[in-house]
Amino acid sequence: MLLIGQCHCGNIAFELEWRGDPGAIPARACGCSFCVKHGGVWTSNPDSRLAVAIRDASLVSKYAFGTRTAVFYVCSRCGSVPLVTSEIENHLHAVVNVNMLENVDPASLLRTPASFDGEDTESRLARRARNWIADVSFREQP
Ligand SMILES: [Zn+2]
Repeated sequence: MLLIGQCHCGNIAFELEWRGDPGAIPARACGCSFCVKHGGVWTSNPDSRLAVAIRDASLVSKYAFGTRTAVFYVCSRCGSVPLVTSEIENHLHAVVNVNMLENVDPASLLRTPASFDGEDTESRLARRARNWIADVSFREQP
């Protein structure tokens, strides 16, 4: 199944080729200080493929904090946060925000709270390498 998502103004759009049961899309409400303020709820599937299209890169603010191992892509025009990336051993991993999805019945999402506060950086990166989307490509339109 192809999951389609974009920020509110469409500047940051993505297609996520979801392999596996689309009725079992996990949606993790992250409890970190940034996601609490933004209402970030994330999904990923290590077997999926993510293609991100950015219309105007000058309107994308990349935000990192804390361990600075994750980069939040914030649309500086509409304020949405469609994705997060983490570079682990020279490989880019990502999760996407389920609130950006346009073709998924919200009732089909498996919502769970998630807290990763107790993790050290090493176990955090190992978890992302296991669970996050491992096939990520970007297209920036001129
Ligand atoms: Zn936007």
